[in-house]
Amino acid sequence: MIVFCTECWHETDSSHQICPRCGANLAVNPHTYEEKLISALDHPLPAARVRACWLIGLNKVPAAAPRLMFLVEADPDLFVRRAAVQALGKIHAQAAVPLLQSLIGQEDHQMEVEARKSLHLIQVIPPGSEQSSEG
Ligand SMILES: [Zn+2]
Repeated sequence: MIVFCTECWHETDSSHQICPRCGANLAVNPHTYEEKLISALDHPLPAARVRACWLIGLNKVPAAAPRLMFLVEADPDLFVRRAAVQALGKIHAQAAVPLLQSLIGQEDHQMEVEARKSLHLIQVIPPGSEQSSEG
């Protein structure tokens, strides 16, 4: 099984007990890989949080939904918020639908675009898609 070191994001084999790149003890954390990905959403580096969002979407980790929704609302980094919106779509987070809908009509056009994409992935018609609404 391929795993990612949640310290430096080096890709390695799960048979390794220690990350070959940064030396982090891969076995020190008793949590499962999915739980490690979720805890990586709290990483101090925004780039690592973006990476965690991407991996959660790739690996389809539905348990990450509450934490992703928190990031969408509260993360200070725009790229993290966008990545969290994308991940919520990829994991088909039904609970995130009201939050994603609330992003439509915001000033940040890119966030709106990503919210619409994610709503489509969750198979919800985004508001404003059926009739044009100005203002
Ligand atoms: Zn590492």
